[in-house]
Amino acid sequence: MEIIRIPRIMQDTSKGHILRGRTIGFVPTMGVLHEGHLSLVRRAKQENDITTVSIFVNPAQFGPSEDFKQYPRDIEGDTAKLFREEADILFMPDALLIYPEGFSTYVEVEKISERLCGAFRPAHFKGVATVVTKLLNIVKPTKAYFGRKDFQQTIVIKQLVKDLDMDADIVVCPTLREQDGLAMSSRNAYLDIRQREAATVIYKCLIEAADLIKSGIIDANYIKGVMQDGLLKEPAVSGLDYAGVYDPVTLSELSEIKGDTLLAVAVKIGNTRLIDNMLVIPVRKYE
Ligand code: AMP
Repeated sequence: MEIIRIPRIMQDTSKGHILRGRTIGFVPTMGVLHEGHLSLVRRAKQENDITTVSIFVNPAQFGPSEDFKQYPRDIEGDTAKLFREEADILFMPDALLIYPEGFSTYVEVEKISERLCGAFRPAHFKGVATVVTKLLNIVKPTKAYFGRKDFQQTIVIKQLVKDLDMDADIVVCPTLREQDGLAMSSRNAYLDIRQREAATVIYKCLIEAADLIKSGIIDANYIKGVMQDGLLKEPAVSGLDYAGVYDPVTLSELSEIKGDTLLAVAVKIGNTRLIDNMLVIPVRKYE
């Protein structure tokens, strides 16, 4: 596995592969890799000639009071995992090479960035959209792989790729979960044993809501109420940013369930903010 730290060298390496007719699969991450990340790497390997993984904790997507400084890092462990997965390239740039002095261009995806997490993390998606644009320009992938765990991020990225006529195909992969249903996340490392146990409430509430929809309930406000009650009943939940029923295309809140539905949650357990979601697609009957 080749380790590249300089954007210019990464760009030239990708150009070389493209000239030779090779496809490039790209998995951008912030490191502390778990099975969720590795499932994206495996998918990229299956579908492409070259697999490039980036590890970059992007300062631009953290708010001033958020966990940029504390965000877990494990370069040695990550390198070993990617080596075992037989990734071809690990791109690990320094923040000063991504945002050099004088950097002044940002990418903003309107409307969908303002909803859900965007309402609570005002500059977050501007930081995400900017870094993903830069990474796609540097790595030049044929396909880029993202997890559905960060549902809003996937639609922000799809929108920016479409609006800016970028070349990469965006592939959205399923959320990997722990055995008890908790979505894998690098931030789970912040939880103590009691909080880790309590965090299962998130998945339980998503399943409960999905079951209500499957049983034929169409009143989204009722379902939202059940979700919020379930979460707030758990004493370890110290804050509820949102929990509810949304249109998976526009991310606007639904009052009535008519078709594909996104259930989404952002809660704080202690000081740790966790997000999760579930897409409920009604079975269509044909006669
Ligand atoms: P992060 O390092 O948290 O920025 O995540 C890097 C990529 O991995 C993003 O596309 C995430 O959506 C994806 N990812 C994170 N957690 C999971 C998971 N549990 N299952 C699948 N993909 C995930």
